Amino acid sequence: MTTAVAPSTPLSAVDRCDRCGAQAYLRVELTAGGELLFCAHHAREHGDKLREIASHVHDETHKLDSTPATVTDSEN
Ligand SMILES: [Zn+2]
Repeated sequence: MTTAVAPSTPLSAVDRCDRCGAQAYLRVELTAGGELLFCAHHAREHGDKLREIASHVHDETHKLDSTPATVTDSEN
């Protein structure tokens, strides 16, 4: 079996937020090297800063957008 190395490996349930340990939906590859993982909450909280220091951002937070369980208080 050959494992293909993709430029952006999809995030999975074993990927955890570096801040709180929740499932990660955002992976930030740093220009300085290394990478950080964030849940949707922290991705949103640190999003702007992360994009400044990131060489690449793999964003899967859109996966959560269609979740009915998510309460949006920004509507109305
Ligand atoms: Zn988090």
